[in-house]
Amino acid sequence: MTIHPSQFPTTAGWNLDDSYSRLPSLLFREARPTAVKHPSLAVFNEALSRSLGLDPEILQQPDQAGLFTGNILPPSAKPIAQAYAGHQFGHFTTLGDGRAILLGEQLTPDNQRFDIQLKGCGRTPFSRGGDGLAALGPMLREYLISEAMHALGIPTTRSLAVSTTGENIFRNEELPGAVLTRVASSHIRVGTFQWVSAHQDQAALRALADYTRRRHFPDLAEATNLEFFHAIMKRQASLIAQWLQVGFIHGVMNTDNMALCGETIDYGPCAFVDRYDPDTVFSSIDRDGRYAYANQPTIARWNLARLAEAMIPLLHTDGKQAVELANEALNQFQGIFQNVWLDRMRAKLGIFNKEADDLALVQRLLDWMQASKIDFTGTFTTLSSIASLDHPAFPEPTFAGWHADWKNRLTRQSEDSLEIIRKMKSANPRVIPRNHKVEEALNAATLHSDFAPFQKLLSAVTRPFDETSDETFTTPPPTDSPRYQTFCGT
Ligand code: AMP
Ligand code: MG
Repeated sequence: MTIHPSQFPTTAGWNLDDSYSRLPSLLFREARPTAVKHPSLAVFNEALSRSLGLDPEILQQPDQAGLFTGNILPPSAKPIAQAYAGHQFGHFTTLGDGRAILLGEQLTPDNQRFDIQLKGCGRTPFSRGGDGLAALGPMLREYLISEAMHALGIPTTRSLAVSTTGENIFRNEELPGAVLTRVASSHIRVGTFQWVSAHQDQAALRALADYTRRRHFPDLAEATNLEFFHAIMKRQASLIAQWLQVGFIHGVMNTDNMALCGETIDYGPCAFVDRYDPDTVFSSIDRDGRYAYANQPTIARWNLARLAEAMIPLLHTDGKQAVELANEALNQFQGIFQNVWLDRMRAKLGIFNKEADDLALVQRLLDWMQASKIDFTGTFTTLSSIASLDHPAFPEPTFAGWHADWKNRLTRQSEDSLEIIRKMKSANPRVIPRNHKVEEALNAATLHSDFAPFQKLLSAVTRPFDETSDETFTTPPPTDSPRYQTFCGT
């Protein structure tokens, strides 16, 4: 990645590059954010700001609020809307940033590059019938959950700010409008490759692939495109394994919502499982359970197959051979995923070494959890204590049987109880964004302009392994609470 020698950080620390807009013009359109009436910062991420090299003191001054709605552009910003296509619930369609604008790429003091994108800042050339706007609730939701995911150690886009606009937007009802400032390693999606492929522009395809590789897989500079594809696949396998470990359901794993850098992107109808059931679906529009909890690895592979299709001309000069190579690679996905997943499940159970029967041991626990409709996060936190190593923490005979085998398994490694518990505590978060707490916090903010519950929840979910966290954030919802449903944040 060439860095403009002419660029020096400004007083606030803005140091934007525009490498994406030096790619073939098929990949983007120029776009300008629409100015809003009254930009006002609702939430700001000081720690993230600092790590980007941006001065939080300056950026939080009232006259700077317009930066986070697009009223003011940072120096050197070159706003664009990125083009992409995607399979939405299995159906191919052309999309593009219809309500998001990339301001540029912030070059950080430690030489990293992050997209700075405004989401909900007005119409773009890709808006089709949409208004390009976003409501406060969904933007706060994305802020909260993306920051929780980051704290859980899961690759994700981040959230720098949510600014209200002082204008209402129209959905089924009138809602307060807001803009999210999203920070991502990049916004290159499976759908970006699909867009170029659909336009049959081989030069653009090569340019996009080379760019993606330089930006996200610099170690593969000399590798083949097949190796590049393998590396993308590995990152996705690892990402989905990490989702499953914390009970995360993305909810809308369309190919346009899968980022090649390997970060979780697009927090629409996502939510965390409470009572464990692998078939859990929260999204109101996912009627067939396509994006159910346990279906996520299968869907990731399906999405990667769409990526492979788009990359066919890059894999081999002979089309037939290219397809064979792609299939061979894809056939390895399940194995790669399974290995990462099992290793992480071992960590959740305090297992350091590998034994052939580990998978069966893990599966038995999950089966018991499902049959008992027990809280996913709570079960693993309960297991992560010295007392639970010795005595079954749950009274059911099935659990007692499993516990005896687990206890036995833990003796077949050299680590002692303290080391086991330390491993478990670092693999099993106590606090996840509980659905009922998220709703409570968003309601207070959107209906009563009371951000205190949001800030309290944010502070708890960004310290997920903290043993002193308040019980209200670790307690599952009452067992008789109605089935939780999420809606797309459009
Ligand atoms: P999403 O479900 O957020 O991944 O969005 C799918 C597509 O619809 C993307 O191309 C978005 O940019 C576009 N989109 C979503 N909401 C709006 C909106 N309010 N106005 C214009 N485009 C939108
Ligand atoms: Mg999307």
